[in-house]
Amino acid sequence: MIISGPSGVGKNTIVRSLAARRPFHFSVSATTRAARPGETDGVDYHFLDQEGFSAMVRDAKLLEWAEFAGNRYGTPRRQVIEHLAAGEDVILDIEVDGAVQVMDAYPDAVSIFVVPPSLEELEARMRGRMDMSEEQIVMRLGLAREQMRSGRRRFRYEVVNEDLDAVVSAISDILGRPARHAAGRLKEELRR
Ligand code: 5GP
Repeated sequence: MIISGPSGVGKNTIVRSLAARRPFHFSVSATTRAARPGETDGVDYHFLDQEGFSAMVRDAKLLEWAEFAGNRYGTPRRQVIEHLAAGEDVILDIEVDGAVQVMDAYPDAVSIFVVPPSLEELEARMRGRMDMSEEQIVMRLGLAREQMRSGRRRFRYEVVNEDLDAVVSAISDILGRPARHAAGRLKEELRR
């Protein structure tokens, strides 16, 4: 399942709260972004240098990848396919361009777009986190506006992150619905 939406909307917090409700595999992305204080390599992200990331792209090891706010981010393919083929739910917390790539490749994928109550609220949340420079905040707010206008329509579901408990319940319900992915096709892909 893909959870997307503008940076700062609270996807991370949603995914963490969801983990307390139901089991799933969280897809740990690769990124060229520097680790923020408190982030752990291999847990929050696989932190790579430019060459390491380029090698993953070249070797087709990424299910999708995109450039976002000056850094590259991508989903390692193998972990996703293996966990899905084992019958587990897999959650991808990714931005819109990458989400569209996954939806194109896997039309059965469940996709959720998380919207903030308002852009003013999004800005307040970003500033409240205090882990980004002013330049990053301005860049990310611009990108958020763009994502709210364009990519959003492609998603199967949309949830407003006003009340964390309500959003997590809604997403948990969506995840609980049957027939979420074509396991046969995934197993086929594993054999390749
Ligand atoms: P941050 O730098 O704040 O951790 O993440 C910035 C954006 O990159 C977020 O919207 C996050 O969802 C997205 N992102 C994280 N991992 C991936 C990934 O593997 N692929 C793509 N396309 N976006 C990602």
